[in-house]
Amino acid sequence: MKFKKIAVKIGSNVLTRADGTLDITRMSGLVDQIAVLHKKGVEVVIVSSGAVASGRSMLGLNKKMDVVDQRQLFSAVGQAKLINHYWDLFRNHGITVGQVLTTKENFGSRRHYLNQRNCMRVMLDNNVIPIVNENDTVSVTELMFTDNDELSGLIASMMDMEALIILSNIDGIYNGSPANPESKVIREIQRGQDISDFIQTTKSTFGRGGMGTKTTIARKIADEGIDVFIANGKTDNILLKLLDKKSDVICTRFVASTDEVSSVKKWIAHSQGFAKGEIHVNENAAKVLTGDKAVSLLPIGATSIIGDFEKDDIVKIIDPAGNSLGIGKAQYDSTKSRELLGKKNQKPLVHCDYMYLE
Ligand code: GLU
Repeated sequence: MKFKKIAVKIGSNVLTRADGTLDITRMSGLVDQIAVLHKKGVEVVIVSSGAVASGRSMLGLNKKMDVVDQRQLFSAVGQAKLINHYWDLFRNHGITVGQVLTTKENFGSRRHYLNQRNCMRVMLDNNVIPIVNENDTVSVTELMFTDNDELSGLIASMMDMEALIILSNIDGIYNGSPANPESKVIREIQRGQDISDFIQTTKSTFGRGGMGTKTTIARKIADEGIDVFIANGKTDNILLKLLDKKSDVICTRFVASTDEVSSVKKWIAHSQGFAKGEIHVNENAAKVLTGDKAVSLLPIGATSIIGDFEKDDIVKIIDPAGNSLGIGKAQYDSTKSRELLGKKNQKPLVHCDYMYLE
């Protein structure tokens, strides 16, 4: 087996038929493959969509109902159905699964993040396969994950997986329109390789995500040292083929960077949406920070502090032209940071070990 620890994201379009009902045959096929991997000692975390689509197919669209109400209702009903099926299908293999429902806010503070990570680690250590989904019943629209692709990236990074496999209803990223017979799947994407011309903007029917978010997430996760595959969940035995050293199944692989990234840096890298304030820096500091060496942000290089934040909160680092350079964990609260502005020989406002530059 190529990998010992994998996260598998199963998209709504893989799990649902054209009429929106759950495709149990497909689900069962994927479960059989995961069961084989599990028995071979591969640690698997599943991130499964399909709750909203499944709930919708059971209850039917109600045009008079508010969209948020609908999502909450469909996900409450659909998630119960989805997990029930997984439970039964895995039970046939003698494997126990557990449900993890999460929200974006759970990734915001380091305490919640570690708490979640611990929960899933305990499950894996006890041979239980976690099946993760967004808790759409309580998610607030503004604070939702872009889609489950984003969630699966966070989970793969949080759980230190070796690979993230995103299963969609397409073989990978094509170098043209997938509808054009001349187009081919790009088999490997290296760090920094520009593929913006190839990203289709059309979205799949049932899921929230599209190729754009898949690519953004895939790049970020690959840069953190995790191989990412975008593959077709409808291809027979896709997971077994992907993990087989000898097989060369069609898919797009984002090649993992070999640089080490600490777990704190990974958490910070995914915390952009949670910044509580901004530290503006001068020209000189911006230059040094974006240079080759890892340097901390010192008070002497800072020009202003925006917002109210506590020590350890996430803050944005902004250059004189107003561009965001990245984010980091504040070493001091905003009041103390303001007092230190421009002063020499002080400890950093943001230490380089707790900084993630874009
Ligand atoms: N959480 C949603 C569901 O289970 C899916 C979100 C997405 O499409 O990525 O239905």
